[in-house]
Amino acid sequence: MGLVLRLLLIAAVVWLGIHLLRKWRRGPDDQTSSPPPSSSKGKAGGYQPMVRCRECGVHLPAQAVSSQGLCGKCLR
Ligand SMILES: [Zn+2]
Repeated sequence: MGLVLRLLLIAAVVWLGIHLLRKWRRGPDDQTSSPPPSSSKGKAGGYQPMVRCRECGVHLPAQAVSSQGLCGKCLR
């Protein structure tokens, strides 16, 4: 029983250490890294991959195209 408790304690300490290390590593990164330039008028503020509709060939953001590669107009 004591051994199990000790192992649990060690596991908890290791987990806490990894957790803190990740937090500590990410923290400064978020503050120092400059936000991506919002030259594009994207709502997300980042680059969105463009996909071409298989049917009509119109270019759309990947999120707006269905899994079959069709735009909303061609899906109907
Ligand atoms: Zn289409």
